[in-house]
Amino acid sequence: FNALHPTASGKRFNISYEFFPPKTPEMEAQLWESVKRLEALNPHFVSVTYGAGGSTRERTHAIVARIARETQMKPAAHLTCVSSSVAEIDDILHGYWDAGVRHIVALRGDPPTGVGTKFTPNPDGYARSSDLVRGIRRLHDFEISVSTYPEGHPESASVEQDLDALQAKIDAGATRAITQFFFDNDIYFRFLDKARARGITIPIVPGIMPIRNFRQVANFATKAGASVPRWVGERFEGLDNDPETRALVAATTAVEQVMGLARAGVDQFHFYTNNRADMVFAICHLLGVRPLREKADA
Ligand code: FAD
Repeated sequence: FNALHPTASGKRFNISYEFFPPKTPEMEAQLWESVKRLEALNPHFVSVTYGAGGSTRERTHAIVARIARETQMKPAAHLTCVSSSVAEIDDILHGYWDAGVRHIVALRGDPPTGVGTKFTPNPDGYARSSDLVRGIRRLHDFEISVSTYPEGHPESASVEQDLDALQAKIDAGATRAITQFFFDNDIYFRFLDKARARGITIPIVPGIMPIRNFRQVANFATKAGASVPRWVGERFEGLDNDPETRALVAATTAVEQVMGLARAGVDQFHFYTNNRADMVFAICHLLGVRPLREKADA
């Protein structure tokens, strides 16, 4: 592919990075190292996920609040409807607002009984992500991002149903959609065409998942409504015990995908970082995204 030189041509990318609340002190140290390294690239925002069943309520809050306090970045807190009553959700939202957080990624979430089982809302809670979006809007003037599924959410009968859900979330107040990861860019472009044909104009930001561990990603993909093309699997064949080559193949695969999207005019990317900076830093470098200090020195 031809390298893009977006900064030279004046083109700018809106980049965001997603982290998850770590479980151990070692993983916590790695998270903050990654956060600091990626901060240099001046992302549009960084988001922190909310554990299944609300299990990371405190940890998500602590990380998001620390990012707001100690960095120049704008944090976004993921929040789900799972298990919580409206009053509990309101408490969480007031807490974020008071901590200076102004962006929520609003999701329904998966049932505590596991992905694929029926979602049963808390009797005093929100049943749908669009209801959560409306509830957030009612409380404070947060920026609200939501998810969307270019290949269809596993519970949806069709992609059209997901577009209906996306429209409902927009009507409720969402202003950005972030996609489930995908590896075939044509899937994203078809979805984008369908969304635009319906008059959906909000940014639909591609979620990019660098494949650090092929088996893990492939397992997750089947549960998450994402397909893994055969050629992706073939690239990782025989590399189970060769982490160095695997990392190079993963980075190359993600770079090809991102460059393909950028060449077609996509100018916003959301990276699933797995709390590690190295690969996404390199991908962003190839996009022409450089640390602020380096730019100032140039
Ligand atoms: P929704 O858009 O709510 O869709 C779920 C199903 O309901 C679909 O079948 C949809 O068609 C239907 N539906 C929803 N609203 C309507 C409506 N108004 N009308 C008709 N049908 C409707 N999970 C976590 O636990 N924590 C996280 O931090 C987290 N972050 C995520 C971030 C991104 C970018 C993505 C893509 C997913 C994330 N998830 C997270 C996973 C997500 O919680 C699950 O995929 C869950 O099963 C669906 O929640 P949702 O809000 O993504 O989907």
